[in-house]
Amino acid sequence: MASITMKNIVKQYGDGFPAVNDVSIDIADGEFMILVGPSGCGKSTLLRMIVGLEDISSGDMLIGDQRVNDLAPRDRNLAMVFQNYALYPHLTVYENIAFPLRLAGAPDSEIDQKVRAASATLELDEHLDRKPGNLSGGQRQRVAMGRAIVRDADAFLFDEPLSNLDAKLRGQMRTEISRLQKRLGITTVYVTHDQTEAMTLGDRVAVLKRGLLQQLATPRELYENPGNLFVAGFIGSPPMNFLPATVEGTTAKLPFGNVELPPDRAERAAGHGLLLAGIRPEYFDDASTREGAGGSTFHATVEVVEWLGHETYAYIPYDAPPEVAEQLRQLERDLDGEAMHTQLVAALSGNSRIKAGDQAEIWVDASKIHLFDPETGRNLT
Ligand code: ATP
Repeated sequence: MASITMKNIVKQYGDGFPAVNDVSIDIADGEFMILVGPSGCGKSTLLRMIVGLEDISSGDMLIGDQRVNDLAPRDRNLAMVFQNYALYPHLTVYENIAFPLRLAGAPDSEIDQKVRAASATLELDEHLDRKPGNLSGGQRQRVAMGRAIVRDADAFLFDEPLSNLDAKLRGQMRTEISRLQKRLGITTVYVTHDQTEAMTLGDRVAVLKRGLLQQLATPRELYENPGNLFVAGFIGSPPMNFLPATVEGTTAKLPFGNVELPPDRAERAAGHGLLLAGIRPEYFDDASTREGAGGSTFHATVEVVEWLGHETYAYIPYDAPPEVAEQLRQLERDLDGEAMHTQLVAALSGNSRIKAGDQAEIWVDASKIHLFDPETGRNLT
């Protein structure tokens, strides 16, 4: 196993903006690293440069202590697990796992020992004689990983392995990959555009936008302390709401009324003019379920209500004022996202009785509000 180090990596195809622009990421030995971002952000290109399927325009790529920029893919000892698992349908599970060893000319005794060890780890013993066509998606995934394990690869690389699966299977496979990666303790780099996969699988997550690294942090840090507007909007579902705000003393003036900020947050936002307040849907609630909880309340007409059992999404129409509307539209485009400048989403508790059309009293937890500089996008809080 090995660490993977990217130092100031650039990939320039032609004359346009670089597909990967000065990205530096250290992946520790045994770490599960996610590369995430919207379509075209450069995550697949970065992965392909790690494996050696794409030339590096500038910067250094290291596996362990070795610089691998000029090393052929087969000499990098990495195992790529592809989206469709690339299993051979006419070969048994045993032979599929054995395949890289046969290719390398290993003796039968060594092949047998390694295949059996891998199949025991992956709980595939009873399936060794079956063909891939007779396996579940999860079992196929394990066979593909088995093939990587027998090679004693230094790292696993996954490129959107679950994107063709339906939601239920995707959930199961996610757990499976997480369990196996923890058990094997192997360095893993995993590309996805799905923020749920990013949040649930990664020890750390690198968020990319147009070739630039936006933030590299644990899932919890990304969620609780997003570095900029893009990360704040990308991580979390439904996404964070953004509203214009001005801060005077410890009071933030928001379109629906004033809220009291914690002094440290207010202080960090002091001296700025118009800001964007970032309020996650779950910082709101039905005021009647939060009596005595502190925080502020306001009245709003709820247009649509979606009851999900454990929570209720209330959609509140809202027209962003002109001074921030263009910024929010740009953010929506960057995120391929929902219409943030025309509605607020509040995630109320599931036992709220608020109905569509109600003029409701909504509670907001001001202690967690983020404040962003609308020009730079930086999170000031
Ligand atoms: P997706 O999720 O859609 O696969 P991605 O984040 O993985 O996107 P990349 O495939 O890495 O993005 O592409 C990054 C940028 O580089 C895009 O603008 C893409 O059009 C461009 N690009 C990728 N491969 C090539 C190529 N072979 N020649 C020219 N441009 C390319």
